[in-house]
Amino acid sequence: MSKIVIASGNKGKINDFKSIFKQFEVVGIQSILEDFDPVEDGETFKDNALIKALEGAKRTNLPVISDDSGLSVEALEGAPGVRSARFAGDDATDQENNKKLLQLMKGEENRSAYFTSVIAVAFPDGTAYTYEGVVFGEILEAPVGTNGFGYDPLFQTLDGKKFGELSTDEKSEISHRKRAIDKLLEDENLFNRLQS
Ligand code: IMP
Repeated sequence: MSKIVIASGNKGKINDFKSIFKQFEVVGIQSILEDFDPVEDGETFKDNALIKALEGAKRTNLPVISDDSGLSVEALEGAPGVRSARFAGDDATDQENNKKLLQLMKGEENRSAYFTSVIAVAFPDGTAYTYEGVVFGEILEAPVGTNGFGYDPLFQTLDGKKFGELSTDEKSEISHRKRAIDKLLEDENLFNRLQS
């Protein structure tokens, strides 16, 4: 069985990819490289996804999958963007990040925002494929719901679905991540490459 490595220490993400790539042996990168921690200093989600996947493929000599995601707010010129996880500081909690976002958005009429997810698949020869999924919506005036993670309590889709109120299954039907994964699944070139 061919091996695919996931460039993430997050067990949830590794399991998601296991269920997508059932015909492959999927392993987390930390089971191969204990010290894998590339500097994610790209300016876009795609840059950061590629940094992780390319470095992982070079070091493991295997195909490596990574993803990078975050929230972009129009009135804040795209912030928090690639800094979503550390918006309020390097070790910021979701609550601290949400608080900072709400403060910056106080009185702001333009509440348009979107989540982006980019998945990168890189090969040891330095070639790579990327897939992007986006979900558009707006920033709420106050947190709603107790489900999800990150900025979910502050986000509703254009048709009014509040991420903080959706179950995991409901959210994963419409999320940016699901849209990126769907594009990957449709790419026959990628699967041919992985199987060869
Ligand atoms: P990561 O790329 O999955 O590590 O996500 C980066 C950051 O973006 C997270 O820490 C969250 O703050 C935010 N983010 C990404 N996807 C979501 C989502 O689906 N809901 C809420 N926040 C998200």
